Amino acid sequence: MLREEERVKAVLDRLEELYPEAKTALNFSTPFQLLVAVVLSARSTDKQVNEVTRDLFAKYPGPAEMAALSPEEMAAAIKKVGLNKAKGKYLVELARKIVEEYGGEVPASWEELLRLPGVGRKTAGVVLSNAFQLPAFPVDTHVFRVSRRLGLASGTTPEAVEKELEKAVPPELWGVTHHRLIYHGRQVCRARKPLCESCRLADLCPRKGVSSDIKEKNRGHTKSKNRRR
Ligand code: SF4
Repeated sequence: MLREEERVKAVLDRLEELYPEAKTALNFSTPFQLLVAVVLSARSTDKQVNEVTRDLFAKYPGPAEMAALSPEEMAAAIKKVGLNKAKGKYLVELARKIVEEYGGEVPASWEELLRLPGVGRKTAGVVLSNAFQLPAFPVDTHVFRVSRRLGLASGTTPEAVEKELEKAVPPELWGVTHHRLIYHGRQVCRARKPLCESCRLADLCPRKGVSSDIKEKNRGHTKSKNRRR
């Protein structure tokens, strides 16, 4: 039987074997563009976001150009993503604050990023890790679910899971492990139907909460079907 640290190390090695090149699927060329793309990605797929940002960044590449838009103009420019009115308002406020308070440069610290409109821990962590190569372990819905099932964390909030992952995983692997857990969550350890039978991590995985996760999802699904009726 493997000791817990050995099991965690084996999980991380296996994730590396499975997803050696894992990285963000969002397209960007500057920290500001990544920040915008991550704000747009709430309740939208990376594919939808990339379609929208292709035109958006061509017309308005930086904070100065976006700060000159009205929230309505921004909402119209991003209308193909969900929640475009709320996101349009945040993005214009975000661009104006970056121009006025940070000279047009995205700040590279947790404290300052978290003060920006529409920016929570996950968004700040993604920007710090992917745009500035600073150690951060952003916890999105996939990271939260997969890390708990794999027994890497047991917390019931993203913040608690983030703290546990930061203890369990060496700092130099935080960013890439975040992406590897997302890949695994999308391809294999899916929310409603995890493919445990064919999962390459099955021999190392305690499958914590898998049946209750599925029951919970199914209950939510039945409730929303009933609401639609
Ligand atoms: S064995 Fe099942 S629960 Fe564990 S990581 Fe694989 S798919 Fe997820």
